[in-house]
Amino acid sequence: MYPQSGVREPQIPANHTTRLAPSPTGALHLGNAFSFVINWAIARKSNWRIILRIEDLDVSRVHDGMIEDCISTLRWLGLDWDGAPILQSQRPDRFEQAMEKLASARRVYPCDLSHKQIQAALNAPHAGEEDADRYKAIRPETIPDRFTDPGTSWRFIPDQHPPAFDDRLMGPQRFGPSELDGDFIVWTKRDAPSYQLAVVVDDHASEVTQIVRGRDLLDSAARQLMLYRALGYTPEPTYTHLPLILSADGRRLAKRDLDTHIASYSNNQGPERVIGLIARWAGTTTKPTPMSISEFLDAFDPDTLPLDDIVFREEDAQWLRS
Ligand code: GLU
Repeated sequence: MYPQSGVREPQIPANHTTRLAPSPTGALHLGNAFSFVINWAIARKSNWRIILRIEDLDVSRVHDGMIEDCISTLRWLGLDWDGAPILQSQRPDRFEQAMEKLASARRVYPCDLSHKQIQAALNAPHAGEEDADRYKAIRPETIPDRFTDPGTSWRFIPDQHPPAFDDRLMGPQRFGPSELDGDFIVWTKRDAPSYQLAVVVDDHASEVTQIVRGRDLLDSAARQLMLYRALGYTPEPTYTHLPLILSADGRRLAKRDLDTHIASYSNNQGPERVIGLIARWAGTTTKPTPMSISEFLDAFDPDTLPLDDIVFREEDAQWLRS
């Protein structure tokens, strides 16, 4: 059982549900903190239910203690959620049922080609010219109607015209099939769903209606909406994609960048400086001022969120340490 102290008693009935969905594959960094704190603050301001879903499907990368560390970091930030944490790995049957449904609609096929073989097939002169047709070169002649071989990768046949959608922060979005990597993987040869399928099945099962996360997953929303439609899941969620936090050299913060780990600022001190920096990034304050999560919640206004990515500067790191 995981620590329960982040769990909040229900108050007035929620009209929407959102989720915090950390992957416990490494220490959370300041970019993760920004997304989770903003997701939480939008949800608490709007009276949405918040579930905590730990995305632990990639078992080879989830080592002992990582799930507990991830939950403690969220609690250290002052976040809470409604109900016990859900572990994605606990509910494997649902993913297989979804694959059977996709197979009966002939939307998936097994494919054991390597990346190199796929590129060669896509670039062959007989390959279709149109984006959506190019992947025909790797599809079997007959698309099966049963999900039979879970030890092989399975790919999804996307819509000719992937759905357009309105992101609440980033505005109207439309992606072409080639921007979405054509026939993307929904089942991996590890005998487990891919990220794209697992997120859709679990969001639907938990009745998630509001998804708030980093802008790096904006194109994934188009893939995920195709899966919602192919699986007949309603209602479709509303998306809010947040700007990313970049390092001074313009890269997206990554779990391997040590001085951006939240844990490196949480030893023997409270979260007030990290929250203060997030408040400035969110446009809530103009210069970083230490503050508690409840002071931040009072002051936060989603309308001041920036659209552009944000740079984590050396002086910010110094301020966090001061
Ligand atoms: N677990 C994913 C991550 O940490 C987020 C998935 C999602 O929000 O859809 O990047």
